[in-house]
Amino acid sequence: MKWQWNLGKFAGIDVYIHATFLLLVAWVGYSHWLENQSWSEVFSGILFILALFACVILHEYGHALTARKYGIKTRDITIYPIGGVARLERMPEKPIEELWVALMGPAVNVVIAAGLFTYLTLTSSLVPLSELTIASGSFVERLMMVNVSLVLFNLIPAFPMDGGRVLRALLAMRMDYVKATQIAASIGQGVALLFGLIGLFGNATLLFIAFFIWIGASQESSATQMKNAISGIPVGRTMLTDYKSLSPRDPLSQMAQLILAGSQHDFPVLDNDRVVGVVTRDDFLTALTQHGQNVAISAVMRSNPPAVDSYEMVESALMRIQESGIPALPVTHSGQLVGIVTAENITEYLMIRSALQASKMVVPI
Ligand SMILES: [Zn+2]
Repeated sequence: MKWQWNLGKFAGIDVYIHATFLLLVAWVGYSHWLENQSWSEVFSGILFILALFACVILHEYGHALTARKYGIKTRDITIYPIGGVARLERMPEKPIEELWVALMGPAVNVVIAAGLFTYLTLTSSLVPLSELTIASGSFVERLMMVNVSLVLFNLIPAFPMDGGRVLRALLAMRMDYVKATQIAASIGQGVALLFGLIGLFGNATLLFIAFFIWIGASQESSATQMKNAISGIPVGRTMLTDYKSLSPRDPLSQMAQLILAGSQHDFPVLDNDRVVGVVTRDDFLTALTQHGQNVAISAVMRSNPPAVDSYEMVESALMRIQESGIPALPVTHSGQLVGIVTAENITEYLMIRSALQASKMVVPI
């Protein structure tokens, strides 16, 4: 159970809502009830939260649809109580593209706020700007202010906020990507420290945000270092070459024996020496529960897995592992299966290489 519900598919992207979001809705309803004991207040409080999160979803679509222009798919958009997350299949390579993808989220909220501002001006129901707050005022006014705060909050120059990516993209136009990330992450952690310090003097929300930014900054910097460590390495050096394979006609019981006998989880399926699929351990277990062990591998395997050539770079193999959701991809060369590539094996390769580098030995791999 993933504790999230599908709200539907819009523009080809599934939108999910996380179960904890309902807690937020319940809490907003409850606190409005405590304050006023009126159902209409509870109703308008909840309606406001839903309108706010509709704006958050549109913000995520700003990122997702811009990424699509650069050929990057978005797996899904999930709404959590602290905001939305659009899971892009990868980040854009070019700094200018990352800049646009990062900026188009907050840009959506600028447009919404401007639209609401125009509406308020046209209906002459706008109160002077100095008297506007998020907590008081009409529904439309508060929604406008909340969109303004979304823009400001997201443009804080720190990961995982959009501002952090904007900063990194701007730096990366002038220097190497890893260095740009490190500088952006350090600035983010500086911001986190500052927020944390202010938060210590009684603002719990700021403390929470500081914590959130700190974690985000260090995650981004290590992910980029990892990316840098694997660049320029061909798959052939990091692949598993001692593996077992299955035939499409084998029964599931054959795979059960192989799993028990060795440490391999996922198996390439060969028909006349040609790769026709992959069976993952998860798919195997699900099929075993549903149909028993006499079913043929061909009914369970994922057909035509993405091809990886042994001369390709590890980076693109990892990307295909991520995109396809298949943890072990067959590696071929001139049509022949020569190995299997997994994220785990690549990590092992990197560990061995860095141990050798630390020992100042000649690096043979
Ligand atoms: Zn964003």
